[in-house]
Amino acid sequence: MGFQTEMVVMSIKEIGYSDENALLELLLTYKALGDEDALGNCSTSGCAPLRVEHGDDLDFESSNGDDDASDTQPSSGDCGDENFIRKMSEKDKKINPLVHMGFSENDANMAITRCGMDADLSVLVDSISASLVARDFDLSNHQVMNRCSDSFRGTKKIRLMEDRKKKRKRYGGTAHGNQIFLDGSHYEHMPPPNPMVGFSLPNYSQLSVDRKIPKKAIGRPFFYYENVAQALTGVWATISSSLYGIQPEFVDSKHLCAAARKRGYIHNLPIENRAPLLPLPPKTILEAFPRYKKWWPSWDTRTQFNCLRTSVACQQLTGSIGALARTGNPPPRNIQKDIIKQCKVYNLVWIGKNKVAALEPEEIEYLLGFPKDHTRGLAITNRYKSLGNSFQVDTVAYHLSVLRGMFPNGVTVLSLFTGIGGGEVALHRLGIHMRTVVSVEIDKTSKRIFRGWWDQTQTGTLIEFDDVKSLTDAKVASLVTRFGGFDLVIGGSPCNNLAGCNRYSRDGLEGKESVLFYEYPKILEAVEDAMSRM
Ligand code: SAH
Repeated sequence: MGFQTEMVVMSIKEIGYSDENALLELLLTYKALGDEDALGNCSTSGCAPLRVEHGDDLDFESSNGDDDASDTQPSSGDCGDENFIRKMSEKDKKINPLVHMGFSENDANMAITRCGMDADLSVLVDSISASLVARDFDLSNHQVMNRCSDSFRGTKKIRLMEDRKKKRKRYGGTAHGNQIFLDGSHYEHMPPPNPMVGFSLPNYSQLSVDRKIPKKAIGRPFFYYENVAQALTGVWATISSSLYGIQPEFVDSKHLCAAARKRGYIHNLPIENRAPLLPLPPKTILEAFPRYKKWWPSWDTRTQFNCLRTSVACQQLTGSIGALARTGNPPPRNIQKDIIKQCKVYNLVWIGKNKVAALEPEEIEYLLGFPKDHTRGLAITNRYKSLGNSFQVDTVAYHLSVLRGMFPNGVTVLSLFTGIGGGEVALHRLGIHMRTVVSVEIDKTSKRIFRGWWDQTQTGTLIEFDDVKSLTDAKVASLVTRFGGFDLVIGGSPCNNLAGCNRYSRDGLEGKESVLFYEYPKILEAVEDAMSRM
C-alpha cells in the first residue's frame, strides 16, 4: 500500500498486528499527521516514548497507567527495529500452524507471550486450550472442544477444571460460599457497569447495592485491592473469587476529578457514611488549568482528560499537530478530527496559539490528588511512569474515608505494591494517622519517592520490603504479632497486562508480572490466619 516499512513496524509495535483495520487506520492517521518526519526524528533523538494506547473516550481503554506496558512494550524511540522485525517474523512462523489448527491469531499470540518464543507447538496448544477452557467452558464449551485438537479433548479439560477448582478453593471462591460467579453464565463475564459510578459518589445519593460479604471477610483486617476495570475476560472473576467472591466496585475517576481512570476495587470496607476529600477537585480540564482557556480552540470539545498513563507524546508529534492546526483558521473538519483524536490519546493541552503539549508531571500529580512535587527528583520518564501506575487519590480516599471513624487512634497498614504511595497519601489527606506501615515495593525509584514523602509528613513507623515474594507466611505472622495485626491490607495491580487494551502484552493473570496478583490473596490469607490465632 506504499507505507514506509519503519512506519508499519512502528504501528505494529503500537497496536499489534491482529487488527488489520486498526492498523490501516493508524497508518493513515500517521500519514495525515505527516508523521514520517516524526518517526525519523524519534528514532535518532531518543525522544520520549510515543505510543498509541487506548484512551477511554476512544473506546480504547487505557490501562494501568494503565497500561504500564512500558516494561514489556517497545516504544517507538527504540532503535532495535531490525530485532523487532526478526522477532515478529519468528512469531509469525509460530503463529501460522496454530491458526491452521483453528485457533485465533490473538490466542496464538497470547500463548507465545505466555510460554515464550521457544516453546514447542504442543506446549502452545496446551496453553491456548487451557485459556480457552478457563475462559469459555461454561459458555461455549462445545465450540472450544471443537477447536482443540483431539488429544486435548476430555481428559485435559477435566484436568484443567480440577486445577481451577483447587486454585479457587485455596484462595476463596467456593470455600467462602459465594454463589455469584458459580452459577454458570456469570462466572467468567463480569463487565464493568456503565456508567462506572461505584456504590456511591460524593454528593450523590447512595445507590442501592446488594453487597454480600461472607462472614469470614467482615471487619478487621480491612482489605482493598485495585485493578484496571477493563481487564481480559475472566480476570475479574478470578480476582473476585480469590477475594471471597466479593463484587468489585467499578469507578471511573472522571466522576471525581478531571481525568478518567477506570478501575475496579474489591474491598470489605463499609460503604455507608463515606466522605470525600475537601476541597473537591475540579472536574473539567479548564477548571483545573484555567490558563489554557486562552488558547483552547472552540472545536476541541474535550472537557476531561482520558486516563493519565505512563508515557507521553514526543515533541515531534506535538509539533506535527501544531502544524496541522495551522492549516486553517479553523482547520478543515477532517483535520480537526485527527487533531482531537491525537489530543485525546495523549492528553494534550493547548499551551499557545496552535501549540499543543503534554501535561507536565506536576499537573498529573495535581489531577491524581498527590501533593505538588511528589515525584520531583525522578527522571521525567520515571515520573510519568510511576504516576501513570498510581491510584487516583480522591477516589481511593473516598472509599477509605470510613476508616476515620473506626480507627480514631490511627491505623496499622500492610501496603503491597506501594508504588509512590497513593493509598498512604489518601489516608494522610483524610487525616488518618498511620501508626505503622509495612510497605512492599520492588522499584527503587518509587520507594525513594514514598520514603521521602513519609519522612516529611509522618511520625509513625515505616518498615520496607522489596519483593512481595519475600513475604513468607512466617514473616507475615511475625509482623502480625509485632504490630498486633493489621487494620488495612491495601494493594494495587502490579502491572497492566491485565488490561484488555494492552494488545502487545495482554496475557491476563498468568503474565510474568500480573501473576503477582496471587500474592495479594495469599498474603491476606496469611494475615487473617495469624490474626485469628492472636
Ligand atoms: N498503588 C500504587 C501503584 C501500584 S503500581 C500507587 O498508588 O502508587 C504496582 C507496583 O507494584 C509498581 O510500583 C511496581 O514496582 C510494584 N511491583 C511490581 N512487582 C513487584 C514485586 N515483585 N514486589 C513488590 N512490588 C512490585
